[in-house]
Amino acid sequence: MTFEAVTLDMATLDFPMVAEIAALRGARLCSWVDTGTEALAGIVGKPTERVRARLTKTVGVKDLQAADDEDLRECLRVLRTWLSDPASYTPPAPKPKVQRPEGIGQLPVPRTVKQAHTETTCGLCADPVKAGDLVGRMRDPKDRQFTPMGWLCTHCLYERREKPRRRDVVLRIFHHLFASSAAGLNAHECDVLRTWLTETEVPTASTAWREDPLDTTLVRLETSVTEGKGTTWIAVTTAHTIITALQDAPGSSEAETALLRAVAQHLDEWKTNPRGIEARRYGTGPRYRAEVLKTTDRPTLLSERGGPFDLHHTPPPATESGDTVGSTG
Ligand SMILES: [Zn+2]
Repeated sequence: MTFEAVTLDMATLDFPMVAEIAALRGARLCSWVDTGTEALAGIVGKPTERVRARLTKTVGVKDLQAADDEDLRECLRVLRTWLSDPASYTPPAPKPKVQRPEGIGQLPVPRTVKQAHTETTCGLCADPVKAGDLVGRMRDPKDRQFTPMGWLCTHCLYERREKPRRRDVVLRIFHHLFASSAAGLNAHECDVLRTWLTETEVPTASTAWREDPLDTTLVRLETSVTEGKGTTWIAVTTAHTIITALQDAPGSSEAETALLRAVAQHLDEWKTNPRGIEARRYGTGPRYRAEVLKTTDRPTLLSERGGPFDLHHTPPPATESGDTVGSTG
């Protein structure tokens, strides 16, 4: 009897759907987390405190005070799963052990990883994530000019610098330009970019290339690959040329072309400032670009995710103490 009565209350709770969760922020998120936690506590017959503790452990945050909007959204996705199937209210599965790539393709250890409770999309590459897939979050960037990334797919958490896809290289260029920086690519990324630029003659024949030839850049990409370099810097203007020159490359997939077009659109909006964002308030750097991106008339997967993101650099090779090889002194 009691169980039925509580379930009836749940039906009237009107808990947000997965798509609605994505649009919630701040206080509204907190309030739904409280509502959902209390409702679930009633259903499973446990103290609210216990449900809350299991929730934060499942999501991988110390407590709700430490949770940002992305963590709170995951709390709601977990609560939604538990509410719609109370039998799934079980202790979190043990954290999976993932072998990270070593060397120049390695990314830092994520802050938290878990199995996705619902379908979602990657907070960096926007690929669909199925329930049960491994997702996780990186630690908050030390440099405050960067925005924390949301929940990332397994590829973006571990493999994007070791086995980069073309889209990974484009995303890297985009976030570097966003942060007013040259684009730093490792040898694997240089290899992908070099192949893309040279597999057909279309990029070479483009107006962008004729006006700003990339021949020297190709040589530098080649050297990076041969020497297995950790970082090769591509200047801002060269990065712009690369994005434009690849727009019509026939070997690109639909997703690759769509991403290139989105980057080109935002680069153009940063230049033309269509909504008249005030330099007085936002300056001319990343804060200005973030505002232009946020207020675009034509939202893209990039504007939906924001930024700029710190996509990590290969640290310089560690030299053992007393080792003078390679010293410039
Ligand atoms: Zn991803």
